[in-house]
Amino acid sequence: MFCRGCSVRLNELARVCPECRTPVVYPENTISDGLLVAGWVFSFLGPIVGFIIGIVATSKKQSVAAGVGMLIVSTLMFVFWVAKFKGAI
Ligand SMILES: [Zn+2]
Repeated sequence: MFCRGCSVRLNELARVCPECRTPVVYPENTISDGLLVAGWVFSFLGPIVGFIIGIVATSKKQSVAAGVGMLIVSTLMFVFWVAKFKGAI
């Protein structure tokens, strides 16, 4: 990890560069809003895809709750679609 301002090598925990005081920007571990929306849509319409996106979402700190919700909805919808396919509903 190197400073964007002066290219000095930075300590992993540094929040600002000790040489030039440039704030250190870490690569964001986030999920895009588009993928979250897609996750919800797929949870209902294509639960297997929704489940996979849910797993991705739970791995991101900012979207753990949404991911868990997608996993639950996907599981319920998967059961629903299987039952519907078999003519049980
Ligand atoms: Zn610097």
